[in-house]
Amino acid sequence: MIHEGATRVALVLVGDELCEGDRRDGNGVWMARELTAAGACVTGMRLVRDDEQEIADTLTAASASADLVILSGGLGPTEDDRTREGMARALGVPLVVDEAALEAIRLCLVRRGRKATLARGRQARVPEGHDWLENPVGVAPGVRAQVRGTTWIAVPGVPGEMRAMFELHVRPLVRVVRGAECKIGVCGRPEPELARALDAELASLDVRIGYYPHEGEITVRLVARGPEAQSRVADARQRALTLLGEDAWQPNVEGGRIEHEVVRLLTENATTVAAAESITGGLIAHSLTRVPGASAVLTCAWVTYATASKIDLLGVSDALIAEHGVVSEPVARAMAEAARQRAGTTFAVASTGVAGPGPLETPGRPSLPAGRVHVACASDGGETTHE
Ligand code: ATP
Ligand code: MG
Repeated sequence: MIHEGATRVALVLVGDELCEGDRRDGNGVWMARELTAAGACVTGMRLVRDDEQEIADTLTAASASADLVILSGGLGPTEDDRTREGMARALGVPLVVDEAALEAIRLCLVRRGRKATLARGRQARVPEGHDWLENPVGVAPGVRAQVRGTTWIAVPGVPGEMRAMFELHVRPLVRVVRGAECKIGVCGRPEPELARALDAELASLDVRIGYYPHEGEITVRLVARGPEAQSRVADARQRALTLLGEDAWQPNVEGGRIEHEVVRLLTENATTVAAAESITGGLIAHSLTRVPGASAVLTCAWVTYATASKIDLLGVSDALIAEHGVVSEPVARAMAEAARQRAGTTFAVASTGVAGPGPLETPGRPSLPAGRVHVACASDGGETTHE
């Protein structure tokens, strides 16, 4: 959904090195974030080679649905930089030297104690009838062209120059549409089911809902633009939290995930946790220890991968394992209870499962498929739960 009134911006990142995977795009990601925060709508982000025709075609296509197309890269003094040529081809006009741009290049080089070379003249060319743009931190001027309702702005690929040019020439063109947003973390619900429930619940609020799944959880982003954006987002958040109950939380730090919420809740309630991990191999403890402040809540964790270690280190009874198999509900429960007792914590979590790639075959027992996992949580004075 594109909010009415938002400036529609297409980003074109030019460079063979980007298309060949030799360099990761940073300019597009940076601009997209800045533009979105300013209330613009980024309609698309395309990587394109240093090729005149590809650049021309991409520009023409991007212009169909954008008010503003920003190109980064390919403005250097050498023949392999083709962005100006691509713009001129798309416009159907020749490139001509702009005397003011040439003078700006000359002055910049003089200030740096460098000689103006002939090659630099290339950088003073603009499509005939269109403009050059001052570069406050580098030599290469930018280019601006006006094509019916769309403005094209080309800035250098060097990240520092791109950012300075963005501030000077792009940001003022973005209509600021006041907006508000918030994020909610959700776990325990498959994405389609979550989306069905939330989309229906929030349909009347004119709030855009985005779903971003990560391992084991989904971040829901609620965005509103225009009048009363703040209160519409606040209303949407409240309704979502009420609807989702214990499955949802509000991240208390930027990028906060489920482990942040677990540490926060444990801390708030002055409680502690231990872990007895088999299939997760330490992942539970690792997730928690990555959160600042985890030392206040995580006491210790065992990685008991081999069956013998579950018996030796945790004291799980070998008779129980013989009766139910090592990947079973009773063993997960026994691991959690043993860990909690040994660590003296409020809670303990345990995992045991079949990591694969093949199923777990045990003589005299049904085969267990890869991916079958038992998780148990023991609690001081409470019942041990299992999934
Ligand atoms: P120059 O005058 O340096 O030639 P230019 O406008 O021609 O500038 P490029 O040659 O395309 O820009 O790129 C300059 C540097 O910036 C290179 O190191 C390039 O890899 C890097 N760069 C270009 N585009 C991007 C991008 N989208 N994200 C991150 N880095 C980029
Ligand atoms: Mg380049």
